[in-house]
This record gives sequence, C-alpha cells and structure tokens, in this order.
Amino acid sequence: MASVTLQDITKQYEDVTAVDDMNLEIRDGEFITFVGPSGCGKSTTMETIAGLTLPTEGSISIGERDVTDLPPKDRGISMVFQNIALFPHMDVYENVSFGLRLRKYDQEEIDRRVDQAADIVQLEGMMDRMPKEMSGGQRQRVAIARAIVREPDVFLMDEPLANLDAELRVHMRTQLQRLHRELDTTIIYVTHDQAQAMTMSDRIVVINGGVLQQVAPPLECYNEPANRFVAGFIGSPAMNFLEGEVVDGGFESEYTNIDFDPGTHGVSPGQEITVGVRPEDVFLEEDSHKAASPTKAFDAVVDVLEPMGKEMNAYLLFDREVEASAEGRGKGQLLINLVPDTDIEEGDDIRIVMDRENIHLFDRASGDAITHSLE
Ligand code: ADP
Repeated sequence: MASVTLQDITKQYEDVTAVDDMNLEIRDGEFITFVGPSGCGKSTTMETIAGLTLPTEGSISIGERDVTDLPPKDRGISMVFQNIALFPHMDVYENVSFGLRLRKYDQEEIDRRVDQAADIVQLEGMMDRMPKEMSGGQRQRVAIARAIVREPDVFLMDEPLANLDAELRVHMRTQLQRLHRELDTTIIYVTHDQAQAMTMSDRIVVINGGVLQQVAPPLECYNEPANRFVAGFIGSPAMNFLEGEVVDGGFESEYTNIDFDPGTHGVSPGQEITVGVRPEDVFLEEDSHKAASPTKAFDAVVDVLEPMGKEMNAYLLFDREVEASAEGRGKGQLLINLVPDTDIEEGDDIRIVMDRENIHLFDRASGDAITHSLE
C-alpha cells in the first residue's frame, strides 16, 4: 500500500496539452477513479504515474519516494489494461507466475502467491487452461491475477472492463470491489464510463481537457457538482440545463421563471446563469408533494416517452412550437422520470414542478457552481 502524489503535472505533446498542471493526492489504500470523456487525458495521467510517459513538468511520488525519473519496474506498481495480453502458448499457471519465475522467486513462494491470487479472482481449478479456452472475462481475471502476484504498492487499471459485454462488466465491477477489499491496496482506475466510476470508487477524479474538474466521493460529485461540466457528465440520464439570467425576483429564461432572492444565493440581477435540475427532481404538478419544496408549476408538452421498465423517461417541451422545428430540439426541452404505469401519452399537455431543494445554479461564463439548493 502507498499514497501517490502528483505535483504540478503537465504533459505536452507538441500542440496538445494532454495534462494541464494537475495536483492530486491519492490516499494510501484508496480506490480512486479517473473519469472523463475520451481524449481528456486520463490515460496520459495514468502513464505518468506508471512511468510509461515522462511528464513535461512536475513530479510524482509513490509513498515517500520521488519516482519521477524511475523506470516502471522500480515503481512498485502493477498494471492491467483494456487489451488483455496473455501469452497464448502458456496455460493460466504459467501466465500468472511468469513475472515471478523471471525474477527467480523460489517455487514455494510462487505457488503461495499464485494460489492466493487465483482464490481472489476465482480462477481455482483453471490453472492448466490455455487462454484460447477461456472467455473474455476469465482472461481478464488471469491478467488481474498476474498483476496481483507482484504484490504491488499500487495497482493501475486502464479501462480493464471496456472489452467485456455489459453483463460481465457489471459482474466484474463487484469482483474488483472485492479485490480492493481483500488486498487493501491503492487502486488507480481509468474509465470513460461514469457508471463504473460511481459504483466502485472511494473518490472520483473528473477530468476534462487535461484539467482536473473535481475530486470527491461519487455522491458528492452527483449531489454537489463543482461545475457545469461535472453536473452534465456524472449521472445518467444527464442533468437538465436551462439557460437564462438573474432578475430581481430570481431566475428567468425563455420558458421558465423561478422565484428566489438573488442576494441570498450570491448572484445579482443581469448575471447570466444556468439552472440545472436532475430528471428525478422534476414532478408532475399532482405529485408535487413528492418534492421537498416545489416550485410553482410550468406548462409542458410530452414529446417522447421511453419506457425503461421500472420507470419511464419522458422528454418534455416547454412550447409546442419547438416540437415542430428540428433545430429546436434540445432547446426548451426537459427530461423527467415518470412511473411506468402512467396514463400520460405523447402529445399531452401537462404541468410540472421542480424541487427547489435540488435546483443547482451555475455561472454561465465560468461554469462554476453557485449553489445546489434554492432553499
Ligand atoms: P483519454 O485517456 O482520456 O482518452 P489520453 O490521455 O489518451 O486521453 O489523451 C489525451 C490527449 O493527448 C488527446 O488529445 C490525445 O490525442 C493526446 N495524446 C495522447 N497520447 C499522445 C501521443 N503519444 N502523441 C500525441 N498526442 C497524444
């Protein structure tokens, strides 16, 4: 186990700044996940920790050691990648023990570590299988076992579940959590999939354009996103955003207005802001008792209904005119969750309320969060 510290890390590739002045303290034994859209710099950050890439500026420590200039093999890390590279001509035992045999560990120690790793990733009884006789999930477990036997201070995992089918990915998510619990090791995990980040991590590191956006436990990122980017990225379906401006009595946009005292919430009339509200925080007017503190009701038109089984996604429009114009989609549109057995139909006029306790305000110029509640 070890902590990992990134100090002022920048990685420049000619005209691309892949990582931009990142500072991060990863705690000893923590499961931390780098998450963000493709190309945001997650892998590059991970590669600088691994020593596969040298940062243009900044330093990296693992535990008390400055490892900035050390080769990967001397950093006390093990890596698992998306593409599972097992030796095809070796069986599971040989694949898992390969690194230990190379380093001339004695046989007893090799067997002890292989047995323990096989137990953790549930590969017992498969030691003489060849990779081609195994499923994708089993092969990925062999790759993880191979990383475990090195008994690293820090595990680095870059999209290890990306190539698995959806069902297996969910299964492996729980396996990785179990692995973390049993090994009690620092795990740094990279994914573009916010569901993986939310479900497994002690904290998540949200990155966009090489810049760190928020470092916090998953539910804090969900409930108190630091800015509009995090608000839109974390959570599925995504938060709704309404662009407008602060007026004397609150917020006003083309289709809605919400009453509040600007001074109390640190905004001033004329300021351009964005209101953010999650689908589960919007209710039909007749269900307004479900909101802790409902706003006044707004008119909306039901555009599209999406039955999801346990709930129904309803895409609403604030104005019928928007419905008719293709370029109007997304503008004046709102997604809410309804119960699945609703008798509401596409094309119906409805009235909705939002829960003031879960209305977020963002400054439009900076994107920074101003408040997460209007109460
Ligand atoms: P992510 O892992 O979030 O998808 P990466 O860290 O792979 O993102 O990439 C971040 C940015 O750096 C991207 O714009 C990518 O094109 C660029 N990049 C990554 N590796 C290289 C490289 N070896 N040479 C040039 N540009 C690179």
